[in-house]
Amino acid sequence: MESMKLLENKVAIVTGATRGIGKAIAEVFADNGADVIFTYVSSDDRAKALEADLLSKGVRAKGYKFDVADFSLCETIVADIVKDFERIDIVVNNAGITRDTLLMRMSEEQWDQVMTTNLKSVFNMTKAVQRTMLKQRSGSIINMSSVVGVKGNAGQTNYAASKAGILGFTKSVALELGSRTIRCNAIAPGFIETEMTGKLDEAMVQTWRDAIPLKRGGTPLDVANLALFLASDMSSYITGQVMNVDGGMLT
Ligand code: NAP
Repeated sequence: MESMKLLENKVAIVTGATRGIGKAIAEVFADNGADVIFTYVSSDDRAKALEADLLSKGVRAKGYKFDVADFSLCETIVADIVKDFERIDIVVNNAGITRDTLLMRMSEEQWDQVMTTNLKSVFNMTKAVQRTMLKQRSGSIINMSSVVGVKGNAGQTNYAASKAGILGFTKSVALELGSRTIRCNAIAPGFIETEMTGKLDEAMVQTWRDAIPLKRGGTPLDVANLALFLASDMSSYITGQVMNVDGGMLT
């Protein structure tokens, strides 16, 4: 017997899926039967490869290149997606950047870039899909926060503020849209090993791993598995929550 696919007949949008956590989420969603629309800003070759990979899993898939920090672009592209795919069941607001430096040295531009790309983008995309989800009277919105948004981090005032802002937004959306069966939850990943962290000093990374109760960094798949649960009807009574995927870091 073929195993049950958790996202059969669902249409998902995943922002920032050409690399890292977003890519793992797009793949896991497609493996579970969802049609996957993904977004990115610069990695054309990776986007083409991902689209082909998702299509090979037997689902519909399409990549869109645009800046999620741009409000009107989000509106236009989501309208296009609705025309093509007819519904939107799941949105994962995953795209994010860092511009790390101590507050003393942080420029206005570094602050603004992180706030618009990480936080305003979540407002933009949620606004853009809201009408469609309200009509359907169902939907799951998943926002990618961070343990840094829960606990703060020196050298990341801009990033921590954007990720903490996501938590307030998530809980408020859950309160506003719960009566229409639209759920909204946040994921707070800890230290997830991606290409980006592969460039860091190995000795330093090992000290981080040693400080984590499960004694390893997380994988993009560790995060994608929680996103799968929150996207699926398995989590139909869960909304307004922040769930950590951090190996016990914040315990
Ligand atoms: P990543 O490897 O740097 O990938 C970022 C993705 O976002 C890429 O696909 C990138 O597209 C896209 N992107 C960036 N700016 C964008 C914009 N303005 N518009 C549209 N797409 C944009 O990131 P990651 O490490 O997987 O992290 C994913 C999310 O998890 C982020 O929100 C991050 O803050 C959060 N997080 C990560 C960790 C971790 O340890 N890695 C921990 C906690 C939270 P291009 O490839 O085209 O540039």
